[in-house]
Amino acid sequence: MSQSPSPSPSGTPAQQFETAAIHVGTDWRDQTGAVIPPVYLTSTFEYGNPGGFDYTRSGNPNFRNLQQTLAALEGCRHACVFASGVSAITAVVSTLKSGDVVVLEENVYGCTYRLFARVFEKFGVKPCYFDLSDPANYSKITELKPALVWIESPTNPMLKVLDIAAISEVARGVNAPVLVDNTFASSYVQQPIALGATLSLLSTTKYSNGHSDALGGAVCTDSDEWQEKMIFAQKALGLQPSPFDAWLTSRGLKTEAIRMERHNANALTFATRLEQRPGIRWVRYPFLPSHPQHELAKKQMRGGSGIITADLGLSLEETMAFMQRSRYFTKAESLGGIESLICHPASMTHASVPREVRESVGITDGVVRFSVGIEHIEDLWADVEQALG
Ligand SMILES: *Cc1c(COP(=O)(O)O)cnc(C)c1O
Repeated sequence: MSQSPSPSPSGTPAQQFETAAIHVGTDWRDQTGAVIPPVYLTSTFEYGNPGGFDYTRSGNPNFRNLQQTLAALEGCRHACVFASGVSAITAVVSTLKSGDVVVLEENVYGCTYRLFARVFEKFGVKPCYFDLSDPANYSKITELKPALVWIESPTNPMLKVLDIAAISEVARGVNAPVLVDNTFASSYVQQPIALGATLSLLSTTKYSNGHSDALGGAVCTDSDEWQEKMIFAQKALGLQPSPFDAWLTSRGLKTEAIRMERHNANALTFATRLEQRPGIRWVRYPFLPSHPQHELAKKQMRGGSGIITADLGLSLEETMAFMQRSRYFTKAESLGGIESLICHPASMTHASVPREVRESVGITDGVVRFSVGIEHIEDLWADVEQALG
């Protein structure tokens, strides 16, 4: 096909500008040999195509690629992608009906709590919160026979570790599906489906994409029935990602293993040194022997991941000044990117939680959460030393 809208010397009938703008340059439909797929920025697909696509809200080649990769990385048969982690949460909760009870870990992600409290409770879904790091509370699952058990491990920001295999076994006894929010650990570090969970949910915005340049979410499962429900929610609720964000996430996933190895190593060294520094009240990191569930963490995680929470033993003003002096730890919400970030839960992620409630779970003014990136550990440590002064 001619690339030029001007009359063709070969004698093929010329197109007008308007027609050429739409019909010239479609060679990508052929086998191009491209090593990396293009971004399929198309809202719709020609009827009867061999890929079975019809409209991007219900599927796109970039979603398909990403879903196949994510399922492989989570070690299960299916994955379904969404516009964000919260979209993925919405998709799962939308499968419930009025009167359904959900047993949740009490320290689930703040947006999960808010979604139940401010949206789904209005529709009659009943969330019940318990400390599921304590096996004494497993009996709540047996008693309440919930429609769904919702856990997260490690939790935000206190990095509590929950026994995924044990909770899944108790839930199986009452036929309750178990969802694990696997965002803080990442697919590389922890595989909830192999541990017995029904669903593994990811905010791919964090470690999966890893470059802080796209939002996304996913629900991964071995169950055909759940996959069907997720694909339905993706299109029926309009929760699909943009093809470009899916493409970026696919690119990010290619380096997840190597990034996670560095996050694990950097964070362990950082946490070990921080814990030994005079004046620091406590350091919480799953792979530190001082972590209350260190043995369990080692059993179900391949590494400690990149998040560390610590009480620096400083006043609010001193903590703010510390964060200001840091050169490599940018003060920002989110986590899991190649760059280091620092967050002050009391004034940022947990600002809406009343002080007494916040402090009762350990989030005092001197508590900071580090998302340790993949920079050189000596630069990161020198930065924190100078900022602590
Ligand atoms: C960030 C996050 C989410 C929400 O994901 P978004 O992509 O921001 O919508 C859910 N769960 C956990 C544990 C998270 O860290």
